[in-house]
Amino acid sequence: MAKKSKFQAIKGTRDLLPPETALWNRVEQTAHEVFATFGFGEIRLPIFESTELFARAVGLETDIVGKEMFILDREYDNKTSSDLGHLRETINFMVVSSANQQSIDSFRQALSKFLVEYQEALHEGLVYQYEHAHVSVAHLAEALSGFAGLLELPRADNRWQDLFDKAVYDCKEYLGHILLEGTNALRPEATASVCRAYIEHNLQQLPQPVRLYYLGPMFRRERPQKGRYLQFYQIGAEVLGGSDAPAIDAEVIEMVMVFFDKLELQGLQLEVNSIGCRDCRPRYVELLRTELLKVKDQLGPDSQRRIETNPLRVLDSKLESEQPIIATLPHIADHLCEDCAKHYAAVKQHLELRGVIYRENWRLVRGLDYYMRTTFEITAQGLGSQNAVCGGGRYDGLVELLGGPPTKGIGFAIGEDRLILSLQEGNKTQPKQTRDVYIAWMSEQAYATAVRAAKDLRNAGFRVELPPTEQKFGKALSQADKLGAKYALILGQDEVAEGSWTLKTLADGTQTKFTEPDLLEHLRKSR
Ligand code: ATP
Ligand code: MG
Repeated sequence: MAKKSKFQAIKGTRDLLPPETALWNRVEQTAHEVFATFGFGEIRLPIFESTELFARAVGLETDIVGKEMFILDREYDNKTSSDLGHLRETINFMVVSSANQQSIDSFRQALSKFLVEYQEALHEGLVYQYEHAHVSVAHLAEALSGFAGLLELPRADNRWQDLFDKAVYDCKEYLGHILLEGTNALRPEATASVCRAYIEHNLQQLPQPVRLYYLGPMFRRERPQKGRYLQFYQIGAEVLGGSDAPAIDAEVIEMVMVFFDKLELQGLQLEVNSIGCRDCRPRYVELLRTELLKVKDQLGPDSQRRIETNPLRVLDSKLESEQPIIATLPHIADHLCEDCAKHYAAVKQHLELRGVIYRENWRLVRGLDYYMRTTFEITAQGLGSQNAVCGGGRYDGLVELLGGPPTKGIGFAIGEDRLILSLQEGNKTQPKQTRDVYIAWMSEQAYATAVRAAKDLRNAGFRVELPPTEQKFGKALSQADKLGAKYALILGQDEVAEGSWTLKTLADGTQTKFTEPDLLEHLRKSR
């Protein structure tokens, strides 16, 4: 086995190498082409933005922003925030072991001290004041009390140890997400940035709606596994401004499906739902809460907590034991207001008109207030439990929430890594051809001709390998084979002298002689 090198890519990040990058390029090229046919233009955005933009746009209540963000450090601006910053560092460095009661006690004491001192400082205006500070505090307090509760439980099994580790991790993550100073963060998603840019550049003055798409890396601190990385890539699009006509929702979904079809992505399943609006959803949420309270003791701890914080998210639960209970809960479709019900029916009609096949999934929800009406998700094959390749929905309140004019909006984000994984799963046997022509030149006299041949072939768009030094015939052919070349062009002393070149097709070993102009013509035709 090769010796392990000192430096390796950080767990959860990856190098993408050829020939796989050719597939990435094909996917991205297809996105550029397909999205352009629907009138979308590309927007390129910064990779980091103010933490508060994400906190406000995505919501601190979400895992994405509540604990998965990579927040970049910044100088403290006074002694109080600096002291709290140091206390936080000390806590972060604590090794907390379930076998060491003292480590547990110190950890809890330090966290409580932090919470008390932070809240005082916040109250007195001595630390950075931000809108969601109280939510950050509530998260940390909740994580801490979750940890305390866990210590009361019998510790017999491995599961308890997992919960213990997770509780310590959660405490540290939520602690890290308290903003002691105005910071920036690596973007965990891009919708917030697109809306920020829409406001900043007055794009509402352009003909509406404005159609934008982006592609690039996103960053989330998650547990790495197949299809889940710390740095991953998204391809997304947003339609901003103008009307909220159901045809727009349907067209956006149609565009994703056309894109996936062009790529021949297999086993696609599109699910749609409507989650109502500011008027009808709160009534449904209350109903859901009432129903959930009746079955509270049959639910797991996460769902029990969510009955209070965000009952909609209970519908997201993957916990096996909760499935029969969730199946009996009321469906939002039966509780939409008249406008939302009409909108949803029209979206479905427009999808049918476009020949887009969908399935309704009443459990597809988004927990944030400004998300409304249409939501959708697309899954693909070969991805195990990380099988969602695209999520999207309507978010009419978001631009306004970020300080812009009231603006309709709908968009989606595709997980490019998962898309590629799925394409690879469906296409395992495809040959990895990385060169069209390998120029097997032999003898000094043939070299100048080989250089000229390489130039002509490359000009005509062929992928050419021109070995830098002379090789023996057998070595050249085996090298051509290893590179997956389609042809070897054999140029020896005789060939050059006669002006008759030999082209060998590597797959079947056949050889044909050509004059120089005929060769190019032949290759062009057989492309
Ligand atoms: P999941 O439920 O799988 O965590 P999500 O709801 O967090 O997904 P979105 O925020 O809607 O995902 O992002 C859209 C898409 O981005 C997902 O459908 C998925 O394909 C991809 N994605 C999200 N997080 C990751 C990650 N950590 N690694 C790779 N792809 C990801
Ligand atoms: Mg996620």
